[in-house]
Amino acid sequence: MGPAGSANEQFNQNELHAMAYTDHLTGLGNRHRLRDKARQLAADRAADPAPFTVGIVNLDGFKPINDLFGQAAGDEILCQVAHRLKACAPDGATVTRHDGDEFAIILPLVFERAGAERAGQMIKDVLSAPYDLGDRNVRLSASLGFAIYPFAGNDFEELMKSAETALYRSKRRGRGQITVYSREIAQEMKRATQLEQALRNAIINDTVDVHFQPIVRLRDNRVVGFEALARWIDPDLGFVSPAVFVPLAEERGFIDTLSETLLRKAAEATLAWPRDLFLSFNLSSCQLMDPRTSFSTLAILNSVGFDPRRLELEITETAVMTSADTARRIIKDLKDAGIRISLDDFGTGQSSLGRLREFTFDKVKIDRAFVSAITTDRTSEHIIKAIVTMCEGLDLEVVAEGIETEAEADKLRALGCGMGQGYFFGKPVDTAATLRYLSEHHHEFALVERASA
Ligand code: C2E
Ligand code: MG
Ligand code: MG
Repeated sequence: MGPAGSANEQFNQNELHAMAYTDHLTGLGNRHRLRDKARQLAADRAADPAPFTVGIVNLDGFKPINDLFGQAAGDEILCQVAHRLKACAPDGATVTRHDGDEFAIILPLVFERAGAERAGQMIKDVLSAPYDLGDRNVRLSASLGFAIYPFAGNDFEELMKSAETALYRSKRRGRGQITVYSREIAQEMKRATQLEQALRNAIINDTVDVHFQPIVRLRDNRVVGFEALARWIDPDLGFVSPAVFVPLAEERGFIDTLSETLLRKAAEATLAWPRDLFLSFNLSSCQLMDPRTSFSTLAILNSVGFDPRRLELEITETAVMTSADTARRIIKDLKDAGIRISLDDFGTGQSSLGRLREFTFDKVKIDRAFVSAITTDRTSEHIIKAIVTMCEGLDLEVVAEGIETEAEADKLRALGCGMGQGYFFGKPVDTAATLRYLSEHHHEFALVERASA
């Protein structure tokens, strides 16, 4: 073969090599490049083991972008992210893309936690500016996890695992978080894994229970329904709040199983109540992104023999925001079957009044944060007044959550709030205690009870 041939071959070799190390969508290096770079840095510093840092950057809520605006829009955003990361990366840094919406960066001159956090903050800021998609702008946040060599791992695999653990923690704490790996964080994540195992077992062994808290009509304090609230006491871990285990089940992908079990239990318990009382049940935001939800909900009601018109489902704003089309369809199917929909924790999320009209809710639950301030803080009072007036105009019912004192109940009544819920009227209690509550507080139920006694 002539010299021209071998040059050509050489070129192809290089090209092949480059291809194997390049992410084709963004033109950044890929995971192989990252691994080589990390190994090379570690080798360079073998004699004098100076630290360096590797960070993983993961976009929050990227998946719905593909679903909502299409693959091309998703790709466009990934390219813009790549561009921004490269532009903001300090000298000597290497930026790579792994897969999907996950990027990595090696920072040879970042040696300790504070430096990693600073770099993280900068990346986070750069990525949070709107993305231009031609006909619209999209905003995204990013979660970051950092691991510092050699403390967080002596080889590439271990280092990346630590960075993944840090990222995982960031994700668990919500959007736009930055975590630098440490032994404490590894411990914390280990406990979360134990918690997850315990919860999975509790679901299998059917030891997650449901309690009920009365919702009353403020005009005469008459009980009109109950909210079902999940309760779990683990033999080792003790009482675990649903505010902890519900998000855990969402994150680990078994909220549907948990929720179905709870709905079945709640509906079964409700059968023993007077028929004029409704059951209010919390739907997780993940369930509003899952098209199977309406079918499984109706199937459970059907198998229990529960009239869907007695059911209200509480949903939050985050749920309807992230996957609006799916959510709209699910809500429509549920409403067609006679189920009513309440907007929970109103006023705390990214409230959009337009959404109230768009989603045809039946009821709004004012968050406890406003209610508990109502007797001391004029602003909260005005906010509640405004919500009540607005709901009147939109023909929506209103429940004030977290009423703890008579003074709060009086104030809310005076402001025209229709319904209330809170420790003042009754704490959440188990099925048997709920029946006792009814025999004390529900006139007709008490009569029937007495008659059959
Ligand atoms: P949420 O739906 O807003 O429920 C109201 C929370 O406020 C409950 O907390 C309830 O016990 C508490 N609460 C009620 N009245 C008062 C009061 O007067 N004072 C105070 N300080 N608190 C009051 P809980 O039971 O810990 O539940 C926390 C959250 O966990 C719920 O907030 C709900 O988002 C979620 N959750 C609970 N059970 C379920 C469930 O079965 N499925 C789903 N998806 N989420 C659930
Ligand atoms: Mg609720
Ligand atoms: Mg609430």
